[in-house]
Formats: sequence, C-alpha cells, structure tokens
Amino acid sequence: MTTDPSLGKNEFDAVIAGAGIIGTSIAFALSQRSYRVLVVDPLAGAGQGATSGSLAMIRTQYSTLEGTALAWEGFHCWKDWKNFIGLTDDEPIAPFHRAGVLTFKTPNNDYLRHPLEFSKQLGIPFSTWSLAKLQEVFPSWDFSTFGPPVISDNPNFGQFSKSTPEGIYFPCGGYCADPQLAAKNLQRAAEKNGVVFYFNRGVSGIDLKDNQIRGVTLTDGTDLPCKILVNAAGPHAQDLITKAGLSGQQQIGTRVLRHQTVHINCADSKSADGEKIMLYDTDIGSYMREDTGDAVLVGSLGAEGEYEDAVDPEGFDRNISPSAIEPLYRLAQRIPAMGIPNSISGLADLWDVSDDWIPIYDCTDVRGFYLSIGTSGNQFKTAPAAGQMMANLIDACETGVLHDKQPVRYRLPRTGHEISLGFFSRNREPNPASSLSVLG
Ligand SMILES: Cc1cc2nc3c(=O)[nH]c(=O)nc-3n(C[C@H](O)[C@H](O)[C@H](O)COP(=O)(O)OP(=O)(O)OC[C@H]3O[C@@H](n4cnc5c(N)ncnc54)[C@H](O)[C@@H]3O)c2cc1C
Repeated sequence: MTTDPSLGKNEFDAVIAGAGIIGTSIAFALSQRSYRVLVVDPLAGAGQGATSGSLAMIRTQYSTLEGTALAWEGFHCWKDWKNFIGLTDDEPIAPFHRAGVLTFKTPNNDYLRHPLEFSKQLGIPFSTWSLAKLQEVFPSWDFSTFGPPVISDNPNFGQFSKSTPEGIYFPCGGYCADPQLAAKNLQRAAEKNGVVFYFNRGVSGIDLKDNQIRGVTLTDGTDLPCKILVNAAGPHAQDLITKAGLSGQQQIGTRVLRHQTVHINCADSKSADGEKIMLYDTDIGSYMREDTGDAVLVGSLGAEGEYEDAVDPEGFDRNISPSAIEPLYRLAQRIPAMGIPNSISGLADLWDVSDDWIPIYDCTDVRGFYLSIGTSGNQFKTAPAAGQMMANLIDACETGVLHDKQPVRYRLPRTGHEISLGFFSRNREPNPASSLSVLG
C-alpha cells in the first residue's frame, strides 16, 4: 500500500470503528502495510468492550476446515505473543498460559467427526483417552454419560448411564489471562507503527458519495475524511451498518446475546499432576478453564431448555442472573467434589452472533466499507490471525480486486493453509456444517 501523499498530518487512509481485540488487531496489521490508520472507540481504552469479559480460551476444534485453520493459526500467534506484537521486555505483555483441551465424542457433536478430520488434515495433534486414562488424570471425576444436556427443571436432568463418552485430548491450546491487556498490546504495537487512537468518542455518522466512503463524523462533532472504514464495533456493529445505508442488505445477519460466566473455587478441576486443562464437555453442556489459585471459570455450551438472552447492547444487565448456575449444576455431575455454592459470582457480557455462528470478514456493497463482525463468542483466539487476514482483504479490494466476484485467497503464514475468504462472506448461505453454537 502506498499512503496517499496528499494526506495531511491529521488525515488517515482508514478509520477503524472499535478498539476491541478485533479492531486493534486489524489496526496493527494495516500499520504493518503502511496504511495511516485511526482507531476510534467510545470507551476509555482498548479492549474495554466484550473483549474484557472474554474467557479468551484458545482451542482448535471447529466444525469447518476454515474455522479450524484460522484457530490453529491463532494458537501459533498466541504462543509466540511477544514476538507477534514485537514489543520489548519493559512493557507488560498479556500472559498466555498453555493448557490442553479435553473434550468428548458425543451425539450432539457428531462424535467429533469433522473436528478430528480437519485436525488430521492440518496436522493438529490429538489423542484418544480411555476411561482408565481419564480416571488416572482426574481420579475424582465421574465419567458416566449424562447427555444430552438439559436444564435442571427438565425431568431428564440427573439421568445418566454408566457408559463413558470417548475422551479426546488436544495438547495445543491455552488461554490469555488478560484479554484487555492483549488489546492494549496490539494498540501499543500499532502506535509504534504510527496508528492513532481516539478514545471516548465513536463513529456517529458516515459520509458517502457515489457509493464510496468519503469520511466519518465522530460523536464529538469532528468530521474526518477517509476512504476506508472498518466496522469492528462488535455488539454495536449493526448500528454502523444502518448508518451506511446497508441495513438488511446482507444474507447473514447478526444478533446480540448476553452470555454469563461463573467464577468458583474447585481444587478438583486440576489434573492429578497439577497440569492445566481446559474442558469442553459437550456431554454435560459446560465448559471450564482455570483461573488463579483453585478458581475456575465456567460457562454453558448450550442445553435443551436454555433460552437465548437477546439484549440491547446499550443497556444490558452485567450482573449474573439465577440461570448462570445451570452450567454449574451440570458440571457438578462430572466433578462431584465441586458442589454447588449458596451464592455465585461471575459476569455477563455480550456475544455478537451471526446467523450461522461463523464471523463475517468481508467487504460490502459500499466501496471502502469493510466488516469484521459476528464473532459469535468464539473469535478472541483467532483475532491476531483475523487482523492479518482482514488487512490482506482490504489491500486486495483497495487495489481493485472484486472480492464478491472472485474471492480473495489468503495463505496463513504460520501454518501454511490457504483459505478462500469467500468462506466469511456476508452473502454466503448459512453454513450447514456449523455447530450453530459458540463452538463455531
Ligand atoms: C463472556 C465471554 C466469553 C468469551 N470467551 C471466549 C473464549 O474463550 N475464546 C474465544 O475465542 N472467544 C471468546 N469470546 C468471544 C471473544 O471475546 C469476542 O469474539 C471478541 O472479544 C470480540 O471482539 P470485538 O473487538 O469484535 O468486540 P469488542 O471487544 O466488543 O469491541 C468492539 C468495540 O467497538 C466499540 N464501538 C461500539 N460502537 C462504536 C462506534 N460507533 N464507533 C467506534 N467504536 C464503537 C466498543 O466500545 C468496543 O470497544 C467470549 C466472549 C464473551 C463475552
């Protein structure tokens, strides 16, 4: 990319709306390609939106090849985070903790047929754990079959059979213990390349001429010329789509759902040798990762009778509601020593969910307007790779490629797999392979 030489000091090629993990990652990637970028966010700093509530678990099991490949690339970015962002030792770096992923072959995940097939194809290691191995690693756990998952007032709750679902262990995974700091790391890395961040003001208007982005108006009244606008506004993304006059014009829609996670002490969550493991228990319908000390964070993978909590992103309740205990009720069947506390603590934050739970990384019918939305509760892990992929897409479109007609292809630099970005199109048919859940 050659920066427009006519640009003044305070003018930019691209404005990115949103300084979450997605917007900051795109900003960093565009800055590496010499774009002059401004990131704006109505909050006070980077990563203070849904990113701050993320459990930031990095796993590679997805129901599509492209989803798996992007997550695998993301894992490679996180495990080498310091080098990825290129920051020096004296700056705080978001900690990445390695932790393997334990999951089960169950009817509701089609016995992991696709994730295992794609893992083999991409060279992602995994192993099968027999009942003896499961009991060796987690001596106090109950490896009966409890599924399919139901909520606690369902008559089938608590039913179980003594057969054990087959365990599959993926050693390559982990979590970022401070997702907000990860966004700040990307901000700092982007700033070193000249990116400017404006906080406490958002994009309130979009200036269009001849179906092309001409500039934006910010909430403080500032008008800024630019020819590229990237919508990375997470749960607020639909508002900017409406402002661009594109409401209802794409095949894949997005909706905003409230998601709750619970914080509880459970020493028995640890493996016998103290190794960290993340659990995606599709038989129980709960997921879990370690936090500090003996604490774990727990959320729902979905259960019969659980309803979608669709909310207005402007005024949702951040306090957890009584239903937050449901995934704990289920998990306590697997880990009986966990018990059920009298009161629970945790948080509620937002998922920006697409119709098929696969993100939209795309151009639009307005030239210069791009979408990085619909992250569906599962794109923290991919964000570093998705930012690079978006920069590649923007670069291609800005140099004349008609992505809607001939989808751009992108080779993931660390893992080598090539993806057609048409996979993430706003105008795709809902992907029939999707789990239609946070698992992607
Ligand atoms: C509870 C929870 C647990 C999760 N766990 C995981 C997990 O374990 N693994 C995983 O991979 N993913 C997980 N996710 C999903 C992941 O965190 C999200 O996909 C990711 O953080 C979304 O980032 P974002 O930048 O799109 O959104 P956000 O972080 O919400 O950023 C969007 C930003 O846009 C700003 N904005 C809004 N309107 C405007 C405007 N008009 N102009 C400019 N800026 C605007 C907002 O203020 C906000 O800062 C989880 C999410 C939640 C909520």
